[in-house]
Amino acid sequence: MDSLDLSLPAPELTVVLCDVESVSGSETALADLVESALSDVPHLSVDRDGDTVVARTSLARAERVVVAGHIDTVLLGDNLPCRVEDGRIHGCGTTDMKSGVAVALRLAAHLPAPNRDVTYVFYDHEEVEAEKNGLGRVARDHADWLAGDFAVLMEPTNARVEGGCQGTLRADVVLRGHRSHSARSWMGDNAVHAAGEVLRRLAAYEAEQVEIDGLVYREGLNAVGISGGVAGNVIPDECVVSVNYRFAPSRSEDEAATVVRDVLDGFDVRVVDSAPGALPGLSHPAAAAFVEMVGREPLPKFGWTDVARFSALGVPAVNYGPGEPSVAHQREEYCDIAPILECEEKMTAWLS
Ligand SMILES: [Zn+2]
Repeated sequence: MDSLDLSLPAPELTVVLCDVESVSGSETALADLVESALSDVPHLSVDRDGDTVVARTSLARAERVVVAGHIDTVLLGDNLPCRVEDGRIHGCGTTDMKSGVAVALRLAAHLPAPNRDVTYVFYDHEEVEAEKNGLGRVARDHADWLAGDFAVLMEPTNARVEGGCQGTLRADVVLRGHRSHSARSWMGDNAVHAAGEVLRRLAAYEAEQVEIDGLVYREGLNAVGISGGVAGNVIPDECVVSVNYRFAPSRSEDEAATVVRDVLDGFDVRVVDSAPGALPGLSHPAAAAFVEMVGREPLPKFGWTDVARFSALGVPAVNYGPGEPSVAHQREEYCDIAPILECEEKMTAWLS
């Protein structure tokens, strides 16, 4: 194929986009098509970094919003070319997230004078290790390209608004003892037994529910692994309890670490890694107008998503897209046509 036809209705465009394979690391052909199609649109200016394409209107509006989606997919799983049956498109990438990309491309091409300036971001490498993520790379190298008052990431949400996302922190609790022969256990100091108090505190901890902009984020602090032991006849001298804390986006990573250290006061707590959450920002006028336009109760996002990258740049962000999240990454991936049309209609109304 040598060009994308952005006059196709969004469901047909979804099929075309899916049939251009773009497993993570092989996005160049699709990025080329997106770049050239958007470069032909007179009201947009287009930038490119690697296989990320950024297009924007420059109308000096009071607000700028960002509409973003990744163009890569997971491995194909014998699920291409697309098949359309009974109002449903079957194929790899239909739900996650080329239906959302199709809607964004249609908005980019067909809204020459939106009521808010819009930056459209189509990025690479979302479905792989975080350090390759195209949005992260652009945030590092061209943060100004992502500037805005509010962002909509068109990941699959079944056409509901899912606001912000929780942060995550992993820590190891290292328990030390003294090794001895188990036949003379009184000469040792059992590190595995010392884990008992750690587990007791974690089990007794009551995780908080934090309300932000009307969304209730439900936290969790849990042991997710334990390792220790030397041999069947040895009193163990080391035991490590791995802990995961999912925290509300109102807490910073440092505050999250403090919560874990307070609960496990007196123990050797080592933070292994952490990622901040993202505030939903639903009180911002652009966001409030967006939620009202969608017309359904917004939900909190519990998992970690790329909205956190926008939040880190000071841009509140939500997830909203036509796909069915439960079939993402599955061999049987599909997307219904009705929510694709609904998302396009609502996004168009919001921006008009
Ligand atoms: Zn996705």
